[in-house]
Amino acid sequence: MDNRKKYFIANWKMNPASENDAKKLARNVVALLRAVKKRGNTRIVLCPPFTFLLPVASLLGYGAELGAQNCHFEDSGAYTGEVSAKMLKSLKCRYVIVGHSERRNYFNEDSKLINKKLHSVLKNGLTPVLAVGEKEGESVKVIERQLKEALEGVSGAKAKNIIIAYEPVWAIGTGKSATADNAMSARIMIRKVLAAFYPKTTANKIPVLYGGSTDSKNIVRFTKDAQMDGALVGDSSLNAKEFIKMVEEIGK
Ligand code: PEP
Repeated sequence: MDNRKKYFIANWKMNPASENDAKKLARNVVALLRAVKKRGNTRIVLCPPFTFLLPVASLLGYGAELGAQNCHFEDSGAYTGEVSAKMLKSLKCRYVIVGHSERRNYFNEDSKLINKKLHSVLKNGLTPVLAVGEKEGESVKVIERQLKEALEGVSGAKAKNIIIAYEPVWAIGTGKSATADNAMSARIMIRKVLAAFYPKTTANKIPVLYGGSTDSKNIVRFTKDAQMDGALVGDSSLNAKEFIKMVEEIGK
């Protein structure tokens, strides 16, 4: 296994249905994580819905960390129903997913908004997990544009704290994952774009993950064959055994 950190970021989306179920899932993940013998240089991040952040935070251990699925770009103010990166920080949240395709598509988040959120997450000392990816039939050129727009005004010093998740929209929640070649060429393209903005050492440090219908059977295709730095995991992260099996696959 190579030395680069591998991230397993669990995006629970709007699941599970109750606080008790969220606690059960987090407890199971942590208990199984504890029993993993070889996990290499992996980082496990759980991103529950906002309401379950606090209960889940109290159950974390064995290196599992806390992340959120979204945030507002201001620290506080008259924004009914919103939650800021600053508030998330106070809950010991370390990561925030920004630009997920479900937020882009169902909540009309555009690149300007994503850029503001990214700045706010960085300003508050948290790690943004910036999701980019093309829709079915779109050229991967879209990713270049999404990256340029999201990273506008982000200095090299700040950029080294970002994680990028390449998530082809057609692969999210569909059971149709990318091939190793798809993922590898997207990774190379993302690295080229990053290298155009930042010094090579900074660009190389930024982890590039894959997301889209990953499970314990295909994870190695992405982390080993396509040399991605881990995965942003939706459905499979709602099953503690399956999620931790993915981590075990990497440690083998
Ligand atoms: C996601 O929501 O980011 C995701 C990758 O979902 P899934 O693993 O279910 O495709």
